[in-house]
Amino acid sequence: MISILIGFFIVVIIVMGVTFIASYFEYKNWNGGVCPKCGRKLEYFDTDSQGGEGWTCDECDYTTWVSYHNLVYKFWKNKLK
Ligand SMILES: [Zn+2]
Repeated sequence: MISILIGFFIVVIIVMGVTFIASYFEYKNWNGGVCPKCGRKLEYFDTDSQGGEGWTCDECDYTTWVSYHNLVYKFWKNKLK
């Protein structure tokens, strides 16, 4: 019984860690809503079936998807700025 609980917690920690790292890279790619290639403002264009937001640049067709906008962005925004 104890080993099942430990295994469960390890899985939860791994999933949280992967989500955390993925959210960091999504935040970096989104770049505060500014195109990292040409510096223009990114335009929101769509939301996918999982709730991810699509952002694109009119100037150079840079596109990025962000899944954790509401939840984790507030955290990264405070950490990185
Ligand atoms: Zn651009």
